[in-house]
Amino acid sequence: MKSLNQLSKKELKKIKMIVFDVDGVLVPRGTKIKQLGNITTLETKIIAPRQIEQIKTLHTKGFLINISSGRSLCMLQEMFREILPFVSLSYECGSATWYKGDVYQHVNSFTNLQKVFLQLKKVTNKNIKGFEPKEFIVTIHCKKKDKNIEKIVGEYKNLCTHWNGEAYDVLVKNKQNKAVGLRQVMKIFRLKKENIMAIGDNYNDHELLQASGIPISADKSRVKGKFYVPLTGKLLPADKLMQKILLL
Ligand SMILES: [Mg+2]
Repeated sequence: MKSLNQLSKKELKKIKMIVFDVDGVLVPRGTKIKQLGNITTLETKIIAPRQIEQIKTLHTKGFLINISSGRSLCMLQEMFREILPFVSLSYECGSATWYKGDVYQHVNSFTNLQKVFLQLKKVTNKNIKGFEPKEFIVTIHCKKKDKNIEKIVGEYKNLCTHWNGEAYDVLVKNKQNKAVGLRQVMKIFRLKKENIMAIGDNYNDHELLQASGIPISADKSRVKGKFYVPLTGKLLPADKLMQKILLL
């Protein structure tokens, strides 16, 4: 992997779309969730004014911006309210994409997840913080990894879990990931792999980065890229990347 400093203008030439992961890239990592019976409390993080300006500038320079996250659509709309006219939102790990008010569904996971969801709901212990409201995937927040959850999901050969340090995403193996979503987004915008730059920081970004022409790792201990953003200083990885692109 090369350091982001080594990214050149020549490499940027074919790039038409930049795909951003959200947590740990555009906003700091960590979701605060509390669930008591049927009451779920979820903290919304809003994108910083500095990143709003950077994204607007990239848009003005002709770049398409795609935001790709495991979060739900309504949550992403809240987080990115100010820049919605300039971006498309791929949500719940590539399950669907929102663009200018239209929703494109990429995956139907209903029959695959219905039974396991009901089983997981029955697991109650102090480690489990709560279920994040989602349409196409199951997301369970835990204090630490949980053997009960892994055992239940492990019994389904067509399902997998991604642990991101604070929650499990339960997904349909090979059919539900950020790359599946990206390939559909590429069809909508008539783009090729070489036109895409993608930045992500976590295990669930692996497929996404591999499906892009220029993959950028925002945490080289978790995910591989052609380039990596050094995790030093206070600036977010997306900030450093956008600064670099705007400089070129
Ligand atoms: Mg992330």
